[in-house]
Amino acid sequence: MKIAVFNTHKYDREYFDQANVKHNHELVYLEPHLDHTTAPLAAGIPAACIFVNDTADAKTLEALASNGTKYLLLRCTGFNQVDLHAAADLGIKVARVAAYSPYSVAEHTVGLVLTLNRKIHKAYNRVRDDNFALDGLMGFDLHGRTVGVIGTGKIGMIFAQIMRGFGCQLLGYDAYPNSNFETIGAARYVELSELLENSDIISLHCPLLPTTEHIINAEAISQMKPGMMLINTSRGKLIDTRAVIEGIKAGKIGYLGIDVYEQEDNLFFEDLSGTVIQDDVFQLLQSFSNVVITAHQAFFTRDAVTTIAETTLSNADCFEQGQACPNELKVEEKVVAKTSA
Ligand code: NAD
Repeated sequence: MKIAVFNTHKYDREYFDQANVKHNHELVYLEPHLDHTTAPLAAGIPAACIFVNDTADAKTLEALASNGTKYLLLRCTGFNQVDLHAAADLGIKVARVAAYSPYSVAEHTVGLVLTLNRKIHKAYNRVRDDNFALDGLMGFDLHGRTVGVIGTGKIGMIFAQIMRGFGCQLLGYDAYPNSNFETIGAARYVELSELLENSDIISLHCPLLPTTEHIINAEAISQMKPGMMLINTSRGKLIDTRAVIEGIKAGKIGYLGIDVYEQEDNLFFEDLSGTVIQDDVFQLLQSFSNVVITAHQAFFTRDAVTTIAETTLSNADCFEQGQACPNELKVEEKVVAKTSA
Protein backbone atom coordinates (compact mmCIF):
# COMPACT_ATOMS: atom_id res chain seq x y z
CA MET A 1 0.00 0.00 0.00
CA LYS A 2 1.19 3.53 -0.68
CA ILE A 3 1.77 5.45 2.57
CA ALA A 4 2.47 9.20 2.90
CA VAL A 5 4.85 9.44 5.86
CA PHE A 6 4.55 12.99 7.18
CA ASN A 7 7.08 14.82 9.34
CA THR A 8 9.93 12.46 8.55
CA HIS A 9 13.51 12.77 9.72
CA LYS A 10 16.56 10.80 8.61
CA TYR A 11 16.11 8.29 11.44
CA ASP A 12 12.46 7.64 10.51
CA ARG A 13 13.49 6.76 6.95
CA GLU A 14 16.29 4.51 8.14
CA TYR A 15 14.11 2.46 10.52
CA PHE A 16 11.01 2.40 8.31
CA ASP A 17 13.08 1.30 5.30
CA GLN A 18 14.61 -1.52 7.37
CA ALA A 19 11.23 -2.70 8.67
CA ASN A 20 9.62 -2.36 5.24
CA VAL A 21 11.83 -5.07 3.74
CA LYS A 22 9.31 -7.53 5.24
CA HIS A 23 6.18 -5.52 4.44
CA ASN A 24 6.82 -4.06 1.01
CA HIS A 25 4.69 -0.94 1.23
CA GLU A 26 5.40 2.06 -0.96
CA LEU A 27 6.62 4.71 1.48
CA VAL A 28 6.46 8.34 0.35
CA TYR A 29 8.55 10.39 2.80
CA LEU A 30 7.40 13.95 3.35
CA GLU A 31 9.14 16.53 5.52
CA PRO A 32 6.17 18.80 6.39
CA HIS A 33 4.05 18.17 9.47
CA LEU A 34 0.50 17.08 8.75
CA ASP A 35 -2.17 19.76 9.15
CA HIS A 36 -5.03 20.98 6.96
CA THR A 37 -2.66 22.94 4.73
CA THR A 38 -0.33 20.01 4.04
CA ALA A 39 -2.98 17.26 3.84
CA PRO A 40 -3.21 17.63 0.00
CA LEU A 41 0.36 16.23 -0.18
CA ALA A 42 -1.28 12.84 0.47
CA ALA A 43 -3.73 13.26 -2.44
CA GLY A 44 -4.52 9.87 -3.96
CA ILE A 45 -2.50 8.02 -1.29
CA PRO A 46 -4.61 5.60 0.78
CA ALA A 47 -2.66 5.92 4.07
CA ALA A 48 -1.04 8.77 5.99
CA CYS A 49 1.49 8.13 8.76
CA ILE A 50 1.99 10.75 11.50
CA PHE A 51 3.85 11.43 14.79
CA VAL A 52 3.02 13.12 18.12
CA ASN A 53 3.43 16.68 16.88
CA ASP A 54 1.28 16.37 13.74
CA THR A 55 -2.30 17.63 13.66
CA ALA A 56 -5.21 15.37 12.76
CA ASP A 57 -8.14 17.58 13.72
CA ALA A 58 -11.49 17.51 11.90
CA LYS A 59 -10.38 20.02 9.24
CA THR A 60 -7.23 18.04 8.45
CA LEU A 61 -9.08 14.72 8.38
CA GLU A 62 -11.70 16.19 6.02
CA ALA A 63 -8.90 17.33 3.70
CA LEU A 64 -7.33 13.86 3.82
CA ALA A 65 -10.65 12.06 3.22
CA SER A 66 -11.62 14.33 0.33
CA ASN A 67 -8.35 13.39 -1.37
CA GLY A 68 -8.92 9.65 -0.94
CA THR A 69 -6.95 8.83 2.24
CA LYS A 70 -8.67 6.06 4.20
CA TYR A 71 -6.16 5.11 6.87
CA LEU A 72 -4.25 7.08 9.50
CA LEU A 73 -1.23 5.31 10.96
CA LEU A 74 0.18 6.84 14.16
CA ARG A 75 3.84 6.02 14.75
CA CYS A 76 3.39 6.77 18.45
CA THR A 77 1.30 5.64 21.42
CA GLY A 78 -0.50 8.87 22.25
CA PHE A 79 -3.47 9.91 20.14
CA ASN A 80 -4.50 13.23 21.69
CA GLN A 81 -3.62 14.87 18.34
CA VAL A 82 -6.39 12.94 16.52
CA ASP A 83 -10.10 13.77 16.42
CA LEU A 84 -11.35 10.19 16.55
CA HIS A 85 -15.00 11.23 16.21
CA ALA A 86 -14.25 13.10 12.98
CA ALA A 87 -12.20 10.15 11.71
CA ALA A 88 -15.09 7.75 12.40
CA ASP A 89 -17.59 10.09 10.69
CA LEU A 90 -15.31 10.32 7.63
CA GLY A 91 -14.69 6.56 7.55
CA ILE A 92 -10.96 6.94 8.23
CA LYS A 93 -9.56 4.02 10.20
CA VAL A 94 -6.91 4.94 12.77
CA ALA A 95 -4.25 2.71 14.34
CA ARG A 96 -1.40 3.47 16.74
CA VAL A 97 1.60 1.74 18.30
CA ALA A 98 -0.10 0.69 21.52
CA ALA A 99 3.14 -0.26 23.26
CA TYR A 100 6.83 -0.09 22.58
CA SER A 101 9.82 -0.31 24.88
CA PRO A 102 8.70 1.30 28.16
CA TYR A 103 12.33 0.75 29.24
CA SER A 104 13.42 3.49 26.85
CA VAL A 105 11.40 6.16 28.69
CA ALA A 106 11.98 4.80 32.21
CA GLU A 107 15.76 4.62 31.69
CA HIS A 108 15.90 8.16 30.29
CA THR A 109 13.97 9.32 33.35
CA VAL A 110 16.62 7.78 35.60
CA GLY A 111 19.24 9.51 33.45
CA LEU A 112 17.67 12.88 34.25
CA VAL A 113 17.61 12.07 37.98
CA LEU A 114 21.31 11.15 38.00
CA THR A 115 22.34 14.08 35.80
CA LEU A 116 20.58 16.62 38.03
CA ASN A 117 21.70 15.07 41.30
CA ARG A 118 25.37 14.54 40.45
CA LYS A 119 25.49 17.59 38.14
CA ILE A 120 26.99 15.57 35.33
CA HIS A 121 26.02 18.24 32.77
CA LYS A 122 28.14 20.80 34.63
CA ALA A 123 31.00 18.40 35.37
CA TYR A 124 31.25 17.45 31.68
CA ASN A 125 31.73 21.08 30.66
CA ARG A 126 34.13 21.83 33.52
CA VAL A 127 36.48 18.97 32.73
CA ARG A 128 36.56 19.95 29.05
CA ASP A 129 37.64 23.39 30.29
CA ASP A 130 40.42 21.86 32.40
CA ASN A 131 38.52 22.97 35.50
CA PHE A 132 38.82 20.07 37.93
CA ALA A 133 37.39 21.84 40.99
CA LEU A 134 34.50 20.14 42.81
CA ASP A 135 32.82 23.21 44.32
CA GLY A 136 29.14 23.28 43.40
CA LEU A 137 29.04 19.66 42.22
CA MET A 138 27.94 18.00 45.47
CA GLY A 139 25.00 15.61 45.17
CA PHE A 140 23.12 13.34 47.58
CA ASP A 141 22.82 9.56 47.98
CA LEU A 142 19.72 8.22 46.28
CA HIS A 143 19.78 5.32 48.72
CA GLY A 144 17.08 5.81 51.37
CA ARG A 145 15.46 8.81 49.61
CA THR A 146 11.70 8.80 48.89
CA VAL A 147 10.58 8.75 45.27
CA GLY A 148 6.98 9.61 44.35
CA VAL A 149 5.67 8.04 41.14
CA ILE A 150 2.53 9.62 39.67
CA GLY A 151 1.10 7.06 37.23
CA THR A 152 2.21 3.50 37.87
CA GLY A 153 1.53 1.98 34.44
CA LYS A 154 4.12 0.41 32.15
CA ILE A 155 6.73 3.19 32.35
CA GLY A 156 6.05 4.21 35.96
CA MET A 157 6.41 0.60 37.13
CA ILE A 158 9.80 0.15 35.46
CA PHE A 159 11.03 3.51 36.74
CA ALA A 160 9.89 2.50 40.26
CA GLN A 161 11.71 -0.85 40.01
CA ILE A 162 14.95 0.84 38.92
CA MET A 163 14.71 3.38 41.75
CA ARG A 164 14.08 0.54 44.21
CA GLY A 165 17.35 -0.91 42.93
CA PHE A 166 19.06 2.25 44.22
CA GLY A 167 17.48 1.57 47.64
CA CYS A 168 14.80 4.26 47.43
CA GLN A 169 11.45 4.22 49.27
CA LEU A 170 8.54 4.45 46.85
CA LEU A 171 5.23 6.28 47.06
CA GLY A 172 2.73 5.76 44.24
CA TYR A 173 -0.34 7.66 43.14
CA ASP A 174 -2.60 6.32 40.40
CA ALA A 175 -6.27 6.78 39.52
CA TYR A 176 -6.29 3.01 38.84
CA PRO A 177 -3.80 1.37 41.24
CA ASN A 178 -2.35 -1.96 40.12
CA SER A 179 -1.54 -4.73 42.55
CA ASN A 180 2.03 -5.17 41.23
CA PHE A 181 3.26 -1.79 42.45
CA GLU A 182 3.21 -2.64 46.14
CA THR A 183 5.06 -5.92 45.48
CA ILE A 184 8.17 -3.99 44.35
CA GLY A 185 9.23 -3.61 47.98
CA ALA A 186 9.25 -0.43 50.09
CA ALA A 187 6.41 0.74 47.85
CA ARG A 188 2.94 1.87 48.84
CA TYR A 189 0.07 3.78 47.29
CA VAL A 190 -0.89 7.04 48.93
CA GLU A 191 -3.14 10.02 48.18
CA LEU A 192 -1.60 12.65 45.91
CA SER A 193 -1.17 15.14 48.77
CA GLU A 194 0.81 12.61 50.85
CA LEU A 195 3.06 11.88 47.87
CA LEU A 196 3.63 15.60 47.27
CA GLU A 197 4.45 16.26 50.93
CA ASN A 198 6.85 13.36 51.45
CA SER A 199 8.80 12.81 48.22
CA ASP A 200 12.39 13.92 47.66
CA ILE A 201 11.94 13.14 43.97
CA ILE A 202 8.63 13.18 42.05
CA SER A 203 8.35 11.68 38.58
CA LEU A 204 5.31 11.99 36.31
CA HIS A 205 4.17 8.94 34.32
CA CYS A 206 0.42 9.45 33.94
CA PRO A 207 -1.25 10.32 30.62
CA LEU A 208 -2.37 13.81 29.68
CA LEU A 209 -6.12 13.94 30.27
CA PRO A 210 -8.49 16.74 31.29
CA THR A 211 -8.10 15.42 34.86
CA THR A 212 -4.29 15.44 34.79
CA GLU A 213 -3.62 18.70 32.92
CA HIS A 214 -1.55 20.91 35.28
CA ILE A 215 -1.58 18.21 37.96
CA ILE A 216 1.58 20.03 39.06
CA ASN A 217 0.32 23.56 39.68
CA ALA A 218 0.99 26.25 42.31
CA GLU A 219 -1.19 24.46 44.86
CA ALA A 220 0.65 21.13 44.36
CA ILE A 221 4.04 22.86 44.50
CA SER A 222 3.13 24.53 47.80
CA GLN A 223 2.76 21.05 49.34
CA MET A 224 6.19 19.80 48.20
CA LYS A 225 9.33 19.41 50.29
CA PRO A 226 11.69 22.38 49.91
CA GLY A 227 14.48 21.59 47.46
CA MET A 228 12.76 18.52 45.96
CA MET A 229 13.45 17.19 42.46
CA LEU A 230 10.67 17.20 39.84
CA ILE A 231 10.92 15.06 36.69
CA ASN A 232 8.52 14.99 33.75
CA THR A 233 9.05 12.60 30.84
CA SER A 234 5.33 12.15 30.20
CA ARG A 235 3.55 15.13 28.63
CA GLY A 236 4.36 18.85 28.92
CA LYS A 237 0.88 19.97 29.91
CA LEU A 238 0.98 17.91 33.12
CA ILE A 239 3.02 20.82 34.50
CA ASP A 240 1.99 24.46 34.82
CA THR A 241 5.35 25.77 33.62
CA ARG A 242 4.91 29.29 34.99
CA ALA A 243 4.06 27.92 38.45
CA VAL A 244 7.12 25.65 38.29
CA ILE A 245 9.33 28.62 37.42
CA GLU A 246 8.00 30.41 40.52
CA GLY A 247 8.69 27.22 42.52
CA ILE A 248 12.29 27.15 41.28
CA LYS A 249 12.81 30.83 42.08
CA ALA A 250 11.43 30.28 45.59
CA GLY A 251 13.74 27.29 46.14
CA LYS A 252 10.80 24.91 46.60
CA ILE A 253 11.82 22.99 43.49
CA GLY A 254 15.54 22.34 43.82
CA TYR A 255 15.94 20.45 40.54
CA LEU A 256 13.82 20.15 37.42
CA GLY A 257 14.32 17.55 34.68
CA ILE A 258 11.96 17.58 31.70
CA ASP A 259 11.82 15.74 28.40
CA VAL A 260 8.51 17.34 27.49
CA TYR A 261 7.32 20.95 27.56
CA GLU A 262 3.89 22.58 27.36
CA GLN A 263 4.66 24.51 24.17
CA GLU A 264 7.06 21.97 22.65
CA ASP A 265 5.17 21.80 19.34
CA ASN A 266 6.87 25.04 18.27
CA LEU A 267 10.35 23.87 19.25
CA PHE A 268 11.11 20.19 19.57
CA PHE A 269 12.32 17.78 16.85
CA GLU A 270 13.83 20.61 14.78
CA ASP A 271 17.28 22.22 14.61
CA LEU A 272 16.54 25.83 15.57
CA SER A 273 20.12 26.65 16.49
CA GLY A 274 20.34 29.34 13.79
CA THR A 275 17.19 31.13 14.89
CA VAL A 276 16.08 33.38 17.75
CA ILE A 277 13.78 31.42 20.06
CA GLN A 278 10.63 33.47 20.65
CA ASP A 279 9.36 31.47 23.64
CA ASP A 280 10.33 33.59 26.69
CA VAL A 281 9.08 31.00 29.20
CA PHE A 282 11.26 28.30 27.68
CA GLN A 283 14.27 30.62 27.56
CA LEU A 284 13.81 31.53 31.24
CA LEU A 285 13.56 27.86 32.17
CA GLN A 286 16.76 27.14 30.24
CA SER A 287 18.61 29.86 32.12
CA PHE A 288 18.38 28.08 35.50
CA SER A 289 21.42 25.98 36.36
CA ASN A 290 19.30 23.40 38.22
CA VAL A 291 17.15 22.62 35.19
CA VAL A 292 17.98 19.96 32.60
CA ILE A 293 15.87 19.80 29.46
CA THR A 294 15.92 17.15 26.76
CA ALA A 295 13.76 17.51 23.64
CA HIS A 296 11.29 14.59 23.77
CA GLN A 297 13.99 11.98 23.26
CA ALA A 298 13.07 9.56 26.06
CA PHE A 299 11.56 7.08 23.56
CA PHE A 300 14.56 7.36 21.25
CA THR A 301 16.37 4.04 21.49
CA ARG A 302 17.12 1.62 18.64
CA ASP A 303 14.86 -0.93 20.31
CA ALA A 304 11.88 1.41 20.64
CA VAL A 305 12.19 2.92 17.16
CA THR A 306 12.52 -0.55 15.60
CA THR A 307 9.29 -1.65 17.32
CA ILE A 308 7.52 1.58 16.32
CA ALA A 309 8.37 1.08 12.62
CA GLU A 310 7.53 -2.62 12.65
CA THR A 311 4.18 -2.14 14.42
CA THR A 312 3.15 0.79 12.20
CA LEU A 313 3.76 -1.24 9.06
CA SER A 314 1.97 -4.29 10.52
CA ASN A 315 -1.01 -2.01 11.20
CA ALA A 316 -0.86 -0.99 7.51
CA ASP A 317 -0.82 -4.69 6.52
CA CYS A 318 -4.01 -5.30 8.54
CA PHE A 319 -5.85 -2.36 6.98
CA GLU A 320 -4.70 -3.25 3.46
CA GLN A 321 -5.74 -6.88 3.84
CA GLY A 322 -9.06 -6.02 5.49
CA GLN A 323 -8.09 -7.87 8.67
CA ALA A 324 -8.94 -6.83 12.22
CA CYS A 325 -6.15 -4.57 13.50
CA PRO A 326 -5.31 -5.10 17.19
CA ASN A 327 -4.03 -1.52 17.41
CA GLU A 328 -7.03 0.15 15.81
CA LEU A 329 -8.36 3.12 17.79
CA LYS A 330 -12.09 3.34 18.15
CA VAL A 331 -14.04 6.41 19.24
CA GLU A 332 -14.81 5.04 22.69
CA GLU A 333 -11.05 4.87 23.54
CA LYS A 334 -10.95 8.67 23.55
CA VAL A 335 -13.21 8.84 26.57
CA VAL A 336 -11.74 6.01 28.60
CA ALA A 337 -9.57 7.63 31.27
CA LYS A 338 -7.11 4.75 31.59
CA THR A 339 -5.24 5.31 28.36
CA SER A 340 -1.78 6.44 27.42
CA ALA A 341 -1.54 9.96 26.12
P1 NAD B 1 0.24 3.43 30.82
O1 NAD B 1 -1.13 3.60 30.26
O2 NAD B 1 0.82 2.06 30.89
O3 NAD B 1 0.29 4.04 32.30
C1 NAD B 1 -0.33 5.25 32.64
C2 NAD B 1 -0.74 5.14 34.10
O4 NAD B 1 -1.31 6.39 34.50
C3 NAD B 1 -1.81 4.06 34.35
O5 NAD B 1 -1.45 3.24 35.44
C4 NAD B 1 -3.06 4.85 34.63
O6 NAD B 1 -3.94 4.20 35.52
C5 NAD B 1 -2.46 6.09 35.28
N1 NAD B 1 -3.41 7.20 35.31
C6 NAD B 1 -4.48 7.45 34.48
N2 NAD B 1 -5.13 8.54 34.91
C7 NAD B 1 -4.47 8.99 36.00
C8 NAD B 1 -4.67 10.08 36.89
N3 NAD B 1 -5.70 10.92 36.73
N4 NAD B 1 -3.81 10.24 37.91
C9 NAD B 1 -2.78 9.38 38.10
N5 NAD B 1 -2.53 8.32 37.31
C10 NAD B 1 -3.37 8.14 36.28
O7 NAD B 1 1.17 4.40 30.00
P2 NAD B 1 2.77 4.32 29.84
O8 NAD B 1 3.09 3.50 28.65
O9 NAD B 1 3.37 4.02 31.16
O10 NAD B 1 3.09 5.83 29.44
C11 NAD B 1 2.94 6.89 30.38
C12 NAD B 1 3.05 8.21 29.66
O11 NAD B 1 4.38 8.39 29.18
C13 NAD B 1 2.20 8.31 28.40
O12 NAD B 1 0.90 8.73 28.73
C14 NAD B 1 2.92 9.35 27.58
O13 NAD B 1 2.36 10.62 27.87
C15 NAD B 1 4.34 9.31 28.11
N6 NAD B 1 5.32 8.90 27.10
C16 NAD B 1 6.39 9.73 26.88
C17 NAD B 1 7.36 9.38 25.95
C18 NAD B 1 8.58 10.23 25.70
O14 NAD B 1 9.33 9.98 24.74
N7 NAD B 1 8.87 11.23 26.53
C19 NAD B 1 7.22 8.19 25.22
C20 NAD B 1 6.13 7.36 25.49
C21 NAD B 1 5.18 7.73 26.43
